[in-house]
Amino acid sequence: MNRLCVSIFLLLILTVLPISQVLADELIVYSARKEHLIKPLFDVYTKETGVKISYVTDKAGPLLQRLKAEGKNSRADLLLTVDAGNLWHAANEGILQPVESATLTNNIPAHLRDPGQQWFGLSLRARTIVYSTDRVEPKQLSSYEALGDPTWKNRLILRTSKKVYNQSLVAMLIAEHGETDTEQIVESWVENLAAAPFSNDTKTMEAILAGQGDVGIVNTYYFGRLLKKNPDIRLALYWPNQDSTGVHVNVSGAGVTKYARNKAVAVKFLEWLSSEKAQNLFADANMEYPVNPGVEAHEYVKSWGRFKASEQNLAKAGELQSNAIKLMDRAGYR
Ligand code: FE
Repeated sequence: MNRLCVSIFLLLILTVLPISQVLADELIVYSARKEHLIKPLFDVYTKETGVKISYVTDKAGPLLQRLKAEGKNSRADLLLTVDAGNLWHAANEGILQPVESATLTNNIPAHLRDPGQQWFGLSLRARTIVYSTDRVEPKQLSSYEALGDPTWKNRLILRTSKKVYNQSLVAMLIAEHGETDTEQIVESWVENLAAAPFSNDTKTMEAILAGQGDVGIVNTYYFGRLLKKNPDIRLALYWPNQDSTGVHVNVSGAGVTKYARNKAVAVKFLEWLSSEKAQNLFADANMEYPVNPGVEAHEYVKSWGRFKASEQNLAKAGELQSNAIKLMDRAGYR
């Protein structure tokens, strides 16, 4: 009798509440962003809405592979990752789905999201020029292209071309200049290298500090991290291409997975991430810029100066990525 009662009770609940609603209070996020950057944000959202957020963190490549392998059986609702190149791949591999949302299209400028609405930039980082304040005058600098000028012979420090950030930078140069001119630009950089390319942006800056070279190209937040550790650091950022194409920017962003179990909840969460409160939390956690033009960057980030950013659609970073990789190889950029 007891068992029958329980069964009837369960049946009643399931009849009254559609399955989607039973599961509606939980989201599963696959994140290539590190736990300490996302967990505080998830906690705020859970507190505000009651939506529980579980997550898995890994590098972008393995997460994309995992989503593909899991297919329909995947429990992920949302993919969160860095670099438009990675987001573009996720869309191109068919593991995301389009999202129609006026909130997202209002809060996020068109060039920072997929034209097909499958991914949305959520925080912005600039990949800009860094220079030694001991050995370089900012007036000597002008553009990414001019880092290939003979003035910088044996003075340029670059990170490896294997990193997606540089692949996106070169892809965006191709979008602006075409392949032939971009190849010449990259060749001229290689000509000027002071040392073999470094494995990361921090090492790039440390090499400049050590006097191995005088100028480099890095993401703004790595500069911010180094500056926080050592405020007296003899390095500064320079905003190139202010009379032309603008500074190369990239995003961290997210998309709803193709087989999301809670699409509506995932979209709501994405919309919240583009809102003022979340934009500050999300950008500030990694010393980045909000993508929402109505939201101010943190004072600390603003202290690096204002700049004109490129408004070329970041989907190009993905579309032209394989061309960029081949081009860098031809140009001898390792
Ligand atoms: Fe990074």
